Formats: sequence, C-alpha cells, structure tokens
Amino acid sequence: MSEVSQNHYLVDVHNVIKNFQGPAGTIHVLKSVNLKVHGGEFVGVRGPSGSGKSTLINMITGIDRPTSGAVRVAGEHIEKMSENQLARFRGKHIGVIFQFFQLLPTLTVLENVILPMDFCRVWKPKERPERAMMLLDQVGLADQAHKLPNTLSGGQQQRAAIARALANDPPLLMADEPTGNLDSKTADKVFTLFEDLIKQGKTFIMVTHDVELAKRIPRVIEVYDGILYEGGEVLQ
Ligand code: ADP
Ligand code: MG
Repeated sequence: MSEVSQNHYLVDVHNVIKNFQGPAGTIHVLKSVNLKVHGGEFVGVRGPSGSGKSTLINMITGIDRPTSGAVRVAGEHIEKMSENQLARFRGKHIGVIFQFFQLLPTLTVLENVILPMDFCRVWKPKERPERAMMLLDQVGLADQAHKLPNTLSGGQQQRAAIARALANDPPLLMADEPTGNLDSKTADKVFTLFEDLIKQGKTFIMVTHDVELAKRIPRVIEVYDGILYEGGEVLQ
C-alpha cells in the first residue's frame, strides 16, 4: 500500500524495454523508455509509422507486456498482474478507444455501452441502461441507442466507442489514432469531445498523425525509433 501512496503519477512507465522476436532476430521496439503522466493531463503521442507508438500504448493498457521495466497505472504495477487481474483492472481504470471502433456488431449501441458495466459490476444491473443512455447522450447519440453499430456513420461509431470507454468512469482514457479513420470535420468533432473529457477531469493519452489536432494538445511526446522525446529532449 505504501508504494501506491508514494506514486503520485497516474501513469508511470519506467525503463521499459520491449523486444519482439522476428524471423531475422530480435527487434528492439522500445529502448528503455520513461513516461510520467499526472492525473488530468492531455498527452499526444506522435512519430513516424513503425516508431513504437502502438507498442507504447499497449504497454500502458496492458494489452501487451514489457520485456523488462515497470508500468504503473494508478500506483499499481500492471506488468505483474495476471490476465484476469489485468482485465478487471483495465475495466475499472482504463477506457480504450481504437482506430476501427471495435464495437460488437450483433449488439445494439446501447448494449455495447452496457457490456463493460456488466463485466465490472460497479453499477447495479438496473442502473446500467440508464447510465449507458446518459453517456450516449453526452456524446450526442441518444437517438441512435437502439441501432446496430454498422448502421451508424464512422464518426457516430467512434462516439459510441467513446461512450463505451467511459462506461465504468475510468480516470484514464487511451486512444491509438482514434481519428485516423474519420474525415477531418468528423475528427474535429470527436476531438472536441476529448477536450470536454479533459475539462471533466479525465486523463487522456492519444496517438495521432494529425498535425492540426496535435497543435491543440497541451503536451506532445514524440517517438523516434523506440525512444521518447519531449521538446527535443529524451524523456528520462
Ligand atoms: P507505430 O504504432 O509507431 O506505427 P508499432 O508500435 O506498431 O509502431 O510497431 C513498432 C515496430 O514493432 C514495428 O517495426 C513493428 O513491425 C514491430 N512490431 C510491433 N508488434 C509486433 C509483433 N507483435 N511482432 C513483431 N514485431 C512487432
Ligand atoms: Mg500504430
């Protein structure tokens, strides 16, 4: 417990190395990277394709594990958790938003938003539909709640995915190129929603290729060849 109270960062990536084994040998994707993020920060991640952005995001969501080093989220060492512990932890603490939305096609939009609540059981069963509607209303989709995802536009599907990411009221939101599949006008709308979430006290880490959107992010980290930079300096 003392370890939890001593770490005041919401996200603390410490000396993380990530290697993959390729046909031609070991690929060094993250070369001992460090990243500390306070609660309430809006952090953009930029860098060329193949530089390690998605791998970094996957370290923080626990979708993948570091080869060595530590990843703490809300003071907890997620690299030490079992798959089960991780799934529960992620459900409550991290909302993940993907480039291709990844809504379940056979469930309605409303059911997609309720699903993480059923998994984490923070809210009582009878409270869940009402909360899901409230979240859909927040992203401007209350009138689409009973439709199947593939009948919605890309921008609407991404907003549904944002409502789903908010289901259990996690402090941390993570997104890997969330506007990468949207036209610029729709991307702008979705981005404005992210800005609103920051105003509500959420913490957000987002990979983006979009130069114009990146200008609106207060803190931008750059990844080049597996090394993290901020303002031209290597992050220690
Ligand atoms: P970015 O998101 O910046 O485009 P990634 O983090 O997806 O880059 O990938 C960084 C590098 O790691 C790439 O060279 C990619 O081919 C390699 N890589 C990513 N995932 C794997 C994997 N599961 N197995 C082998 N190599 C991988
Ligand atoms: Mg990527």
